[in-house]
Amino acid sequence: MNYIVLDLEWNMGNRREELKVMPFEIIEIGAVKLDSGKSEIERFSRLIHPRVYRRMHWMNKSIVHISNSDLKSAAGFEEVYSEFLAFCGDDPYIFCTWGDTDLTELQRNIFYFDCIPLTEGPLEYLDVQKLNGYNEGSHKNRISLEKAVEKYEISEVTDFHRAVNDASYTAEILKHIDSRFEKYTSFNTYYAPEDREKEIERDYGDYIKQIFKCYKDKHTLIHDKRIRNLSCPVCKAVLEKSIPPFSLNGKNYLMMGSCKDHGTVKAKIRIKKNEQNNLPYAVKTTRIINDEEKDALEKKYQKSISSKLE
Ligand SMILES: [Zn+2]
Repeated sequence: MNYIVLDLEWNMGNRREELKVMPFEIIEIGAVKLDSGKSEIERFSRLIHPRVYRRMHWMNKSIVHISNSDLKSAAGFEEVYSEFLAFCGDDPYIFCTWGDTDLTELQRNIFYFDCIPLTEGPLEYLDVQKLNGYNEGSHKNRISLEKAVEKYEISEVTDFHRAVNDASYTAEILKHIDSRFEKYTSFNTYYAPEDREKEIERDYGDYIKQIFKCYKDKHTLIHDKRIRNLSCPVCKAVLEKSIPPFSLNGKNYLMMGSCKDHGTVKAKIRIKKNEQNNLPYAVKTTRIINDEEKDALEKKYQKSISSKLE
């Protein structure tokens, strides 16, 4: 499988012009294609003529090294996107990005300009920033691209904040990451699963991730047994809950139970809203936790009970 390491530059409007469906308009697509052995095959770099936010936003000017005159002669999104798809090719590939925003903004632009979607459901990809965290011992440890380039002593021959350069730096970092961590794929859920058939369940060994379909409302979602169930991520046994699903903020629900063979199990249900139809869907992760995490979870539960009594 090939790796398509992708980076975008975008522009935004001022508060008055901003469109909710597309807050950021892509002005450059850059990508580096690597083969399964991570040798570079080819590069893609195209500017895009903006049609919604036509003038470079003042905040962007100092960051992105692209001027209005650079963009004047560029092609429109539809043309560059179809060239990009041709670049991605027919061989199987996985997108790789630094962080989790690029694939959302790309899909928003694809939708706005009425182009063929990349996917009909959740899009599996590698978040190289997250993988770099795993490489350092904690997936929650997110550092900037600049910091990572410094850390791996990648020679800085090109400017940051030009799409193909940042894609190239990201590709170099990916080469430094232990490939064992590549199993920790991410899912972009700009398109949530439409129905049960498109739902995602992935066993990552030490935790399980499930992405459920959209529900008609939050109440139905959080009371569905499928979502409230707690099972051991190792042996899959259905567990009694010592802590039932509770929430401190109305968005994330937590619950706990214990497997006699594998220890304390925690599940986290994140309720998100699908951008297309505004309906709620859930992302659930289930993992074995240690005593410290168990104590922290119990404290949170106590807090949720006492805040209800107040
Ligand atoms: Zn078990």
